[in-house]
Amino acid sequence: MTHIAVLGSTNMDLVAYVAKAPQRGETVTGREFRTLPGGKGANQAVAAARAGADAVSMIGAVGADAFGTQLRTALDHSGVDTDLLRTVDTAATGTAHIVVDDEGGNAIVVIPGANATLTALAPGDEGLITSADTLLLQLEIPVEGVLAAAQAARRHGVRTILTPAPAQPLPPELLAATDLLVPNEHEAATLTGLTDPRSAARSLLSQVPEVVVTLGARGSLYAARGAEPVMVEAPHVTAVDTTGAGDTFVGTLAVALAEGGSVPEALAWASSAAALSVQRPGASASMPYRSEIDTQTNGGAS
Ligand code: AMP
Repeated sequence: MTHIAVLGSTNMDLVAYVAKAPQRGETVTGREFRTLPGGKGANQAVAAARAGADAVSMIGAVGADAFGTQLRTALDHSGVDTDLLRTVDTAATGTAHIVVDDEGGNAIVVIPGANATLTALAPGDEGLITSADTLLLQLEIPVEGVLAAAQAARRHGVRTILTPAPAQPLPPELLAATDLLVPNEHEAATLTGLTDPRSAARSLLSQVPEVVVTLGARGSLYAARGAEPVMVEAPHVTAVDTTGAGDTFVGTLAVALAEGGSVPEALAWASSAAALSVQRPGASASMPYRSEIDTQTNGGAS
């Protein structure tokens, strides 16, 4: 029985698809507009559910508006438990304004809205965290809320996996309550001041026991105290939209580790899932199901 708890953001992604993103002061005509469920927290929850976790619970907040209703319904349909996803009437549902270009790159403005109300644990949150194998955390909600949850998990021996995104300096207490840190290259550089991923990972090991630095199309780098870093290649695929690739990677990795898989197996599986997700548009909408991940991992089309 694998139970993954997630505390984090729930956003509606407002996505413009365009050949080339506009520069400052420039107006360009795009090709298409879509509204897609997103937010790093909700994305990781959907990734874990699709990867086959027995139970996934989302702790978060939406506004009392149409986007909030749509996001709750989308999570319910993905099999994510939303009992602790609160509806607040003091703020609108969070939105992310995303421009995706023809090379699959993206630029994003996030308006936190209801996510900004998550400054502390609410009744029921700690009990839920206690019952989980793993708690997934990111930084699209206030860091005080993230810290409270990480420390609750630590008190109860629940594994914490932190995605330090958007990039920002972190309180040492948060890193002290983190078991596995999963930054991308940019976030690793922000945390350490080191642009070389191996050096950044080595430096981060003084604060957390395990690190995975994700490297986009180049794959990922795993480092643990007392062991040589391991580079994991990403499958060669044609990316159309990399939004949510990191969240797919983390959600899938969490399930594999909670099931007792070895780190190399878990990383290979997470890389397969992320590679599948970049070949389709959207964040959570592009996330693969367990059978697809298994096929890709066992030598399927790449
Ligand atoms: P990133 O957040 O860009 O570092 O991506 C997270 C993970 O998604 C990477 O570690 C890869 O496993 C996967 N990924 C991202 N972009 C690509 C790509 N173009 N091709 C294959 N895998 C990718």
